[in-house]
Amino acid sequence: MLSRFPLISFRGRGPLLGLYLLLTCALLGCAQPDSGKDDTPVERRVADPRAGARNHKIDQVRMVVDVGFNPDQQRVRGTVTHYFRPLRSTIDSFYLDGPEITYKEVRLNGNLTNHDVTDGGIRIHPDAPRPWKQTDTLRIRYEATPRHGLYFTGWDDSTGHAPRQVWTQGQGPGPRHWVPFYDSPNDKLITETIITFDEEYRVLSNGERVGVEANGDGTKTWHYRMSNPHPGYAMMIGIGRYQVQRETSNSGVEIQNYYYPDQAGRAGPTYRHTAEMIDVMEQETGVAYPWSRYSQIPVHNFLHGGMENTTATVFSDEYYVDERAYRDRNYVTVNAHEIAHQWFGNFITMGRLEEIWLHESFATHYAKVIERKLFGEDHYQWNRKQERDQVLASLDRGPLPIRHTRAGSGRVYYKGSLVLDMLKDVVGKPEFDRVVERYLREHAPGNVTSRDFFHAFDEVLGQNLDWFFDQWILQDGLPHYDISTRMSDSSGTTVTEVTVRQIHETGPLTQDFRMPIVIEAHYEDGSSSCVREWIDGKKTAVRLAAREEKQVDYVLFDPGNRVLKRQTFQRDVQELGAQLQKASNMIDRHDAAEALRETSLSTKRGLLTNAFATEPSPHVRAEIVRQLAEDTRSTDLLETALQDSSSVVRGIALSRIPTIADPLVDDFERALSDSSYQNVETALDRLTTARPSRTREYLDRTASIDGQDYNVRLKWLAIRADLEDEPVPDELIDYAGPSYSFRTRVPALRALDKLDVTNETAAAHLLDAAAHFSRDLRGPASTILTSWLEEGERTLLESTYRSGEWTSRQAARIERHLEQ
Ligand SMILES: [Zn+2]
Repeated sequence: MLSRFPLISFRGRGPLLGLYLLLTCALLGCAQPDSGKDDTPVERRVADPRAGARNHKIDQVRMVVDVGFNPDQQRVRGTVTHYFRPLRSTIDSFYLDGPEITYKEVRLNGNLTNHDVTDGGIRIHPDAPRPWKQTDTLRIRYEATPRHGLYFTGWDDSTGHAPRQVWTQGQGPGPRHWVPFYDSPNDKLITETIITFDEEYRVLSNGERVGVEANGDGTKTWHYRMSNPHPGYAMMIGIGRYQVQRETSNSGVEIQNYYYPDQAGRAGPTYRHTAEMIDVMEQETGVAYPWSRYSQIPVHNFLHGGMENTTATVFSDEYYVDERAYRDRNYVTVNAHEIAHQWFGNFITMGRLEEIWLHESFATHYAKVIERKLFGEDHYQWNRKQERDQVLASLDRGPLPIRHTRAGSGRVYYKGSLVLDMLKDVVGKPEFDRVVERYLREHAPGNVTSRDFFHAFDEVLGQNLDWFFDQWILQDGLPHYDISTRMSDSSGTTVTEVTVRQIHETGPLTQDFRMPIVIEAHYEDGSSSCVREWIDGKKTAVRLAAREEKQVDYVLFDPGNRVLKRQTFQRDVQELGAQLQKASNMIDRHDAAEALRETSLSTKRGLLTNAFATEPSPHVRAEIVRQLAEDTRSTDLLETALQDSSSVVRGIALSRIPTIADPLVDDFERALSDSSYQNVETALDRLTTARPSRTREYLDRTASIDGQDYNVRLKWLAIRADLEDEPVPDELIDYAGPSYSFRTRVPALRALDKLDVTNETAAAHLLDAAAHFSRDLRGPASTILTSWLEEGERTLLESTYRSGEWTSRQAARIERHLEQ
C-alpha cells in the first residue's frame, strides 16, 4: 500500500553523474561491535502489545466468494464457500471474522450447523468435532452494508459527472466487512470471486478470468480464480465503466491497464513504463513475476495512493493524468511500489503485524531501484534525499524500531528503504541480490519473519550481520556524527586528518553506530584521496594522505550520503562552494547548497550564481533559487530561473520571489501558459495580487485552462468572484459537491469559505464532505465545518441537515459535528 507521497514527482530524466566511489575504496580496520550494556535481547527492549501471530484453528485452503451489489443501498448480498482443514487433531468450534454481517444460513458439509454471531464475526460449532487431515466445506449465505472495506462512489451524484464505481480496499479495514473469513495474513489462501453486476459495467478481480456470462436480465456474472495462495487482505473487486489496454512485459507477463473511455488519452502517460518495471523487478530479484497476469485499475476518491491487490492493483485516479499534468503529479512511484509488492507482500507475506516492514520497506526500496533504472542516478539520489527528510521528520514519535507495530510510515517505508541501500553497501550488491533471491524462493508462497531474512545472510553468504540488523532494524535512532578536519603538510605529503565523534544520545534502544564510511579529500588540482573506514565507537580518527603537497579543496564525509545520519561538519564557505560546484554526486552538491542557507547573501551570492550557471540538476538549481529569491541584486539569475527548462525551478521562482520587479513581469506573464498546471495557478495568483489593475486581462488569458483536477479553474473562479462586482458563480459551488473528487472539492470548499459563501447548496456540500468515507475529504471539510459553526452558521447547517437525505453513517458523522 502506498499513501499519497507528498514529495516525489518525476520531473524529467537527469544526466547520469559520476558513478559512486564506494567500490574503489578499501575496507579497513574491521572490528567486532560492542556487545552493549543492556543484556535484554534487542527485540524485547520495547514493548509491543500488538505484536505476535494470531491464533486460528483452521487452515483456509480455498475460498469461493459469490456476491452481488445494490449500490443505491450500499449493500452486498453473498455466499461464501470455504474449503478448510482443521489445524489441531480435533476441533469442536472455530471462528471467522465478519462484523456487522447478517448471517442468513450456515451449512457445514451441506448440513445446517450451529453458530454464534458475535460483534466481530461468527463462531461455528460443528455437530461432531472435526478431525484433521480432512477437508471440510462451510457455506455461508449473508448480507451486509459494509462500513469499511467496500465502497460505492458516484451513485449519489445526480448530475452523472462522478464515475459510478464499486471498489474494495482490503489492507487496513479488511475484507471481513463484506465477506466472512479468517482475515489474517498468517493464513494465505486461494480465492475465487464470482460477481454479478449490471452488464454495462466492467468487473475486475484477482487472478485469471475464467468466465463471463450474460444472465439475460441486464446483468452479467464475472468469474475470477487465483491459482496460488495469497493474503486475504489482497483480495479485490473493482467495478466501473472502463476499457482495457493490453501490453506484455519482455518475459511475457500479460498486463491489463483499465482506463476511462472518456479520457482514453490519459492511459498512455498514466501507465508509462509499467512493462519495464516488471522486467526490472524480475532482473533485480532473480525471480519471475509470481502470478499469471497483472492488472491496474484507477478509482475515484481512493483512500490511499495505491493498493497492491494480488494481480490487480487499485490506485487513486488523481494519478490518472494527461501528458501535461504528468509533470506535476504522476503514477510512476505508486506504480513501481505496488508492482514490487507482488513479490514482497503477496508472494511472501508477513504473518504478524510487526513484520510489515518486510512488505513496505522492500516495496519502497525496489520502487526506488526501478526508478533508478528508468530515470538515472540523479533521480535515485533525489529519491533518497526525500526518504531521508521523511525519516528525520518522523523521529519525534519516540524511540521505536522499524520492526514494531507502531513504527509509523517514516520508519516502515523510508528508513527501511534506506537501510536496504546500506545493507547492499555493506555486503555488496551481487551478494545482496543472491540472498534476496534465496529468501524469496525458500519462503514463497508462505509467511516470513525478519529472522528468515536475517538468517538468509548467514545461510547464503556465511556472514553474521546481527550487528547491522540490531542497530538498524531492531533498535532505533540514527548516528549523529560531529566531523572535524585538520590538514598538515610534511616532507612532501599533505595529510588530512578527519576526526569523527558520535554525539547522539545513547540509551537502551540507541547505541553508538558501527558503519563503514567513505571519506574523500579533493584537491585543487582535481585529484583526490579516498578511504573507506569503519566508524565505530565514540571517536574515530581517519587519515588521508596525498603523495605530494596539495591544496585541499573540500572534504566529503560519506559521498553520495549513503549512511542514514545527521551530521555536524563545520566547513568554510570556500569549501562548501567548491563542493557545490565540483562534487560528482548531485546529492553532495545539494547538501553543500543547503549548508549555505544561513550564510549571508553578500558572502554566497557569487558562488551560488556561478554554480547555477553550470548545475545540471534541477533540484540543486531550485535550492539556489530558493536562497536567492529575495535578493534584489540577483534579478538576472531569477529571470533565467523563470525561463528554466525544468518546471521545478520555474515553480520555485514563481512562488518564492517576493515582489515582481518590472524586469520579471514578462516572465511571470509567460507562466500563465506554463506547461505545468501548478505553475499556471501560482502565476495567476501572484500576478493578480501584485497587479490588481490588470486582473481582468490575466483572467482572460487563462479562461480556457481547467488544469489538473480543476486547480487552475478553481483559482480563476475564486479570483473573479473576489472582484467587487462579480457574484460567486454556481460553478465554483458545484466543484465543492459530490460530482468531483476530494482533489477538487477541498480547494473549492476552502475558496467558498474564504469568500464567505454561506447558502444552502454550499452548506449541503460541506455536510456531505464532512461525512465522507475519504479521510482526505472528511478531514479538511470537518475543519471548515467547525469554523462555520463558530461563525454563527449553526441555523443554516441544521436546517440543511434536516432537509437532506443521509445514510445512517453520514447522519452519525454530521450529528457528531452539530453536537459540538
Ligand atoms: Zn506499500
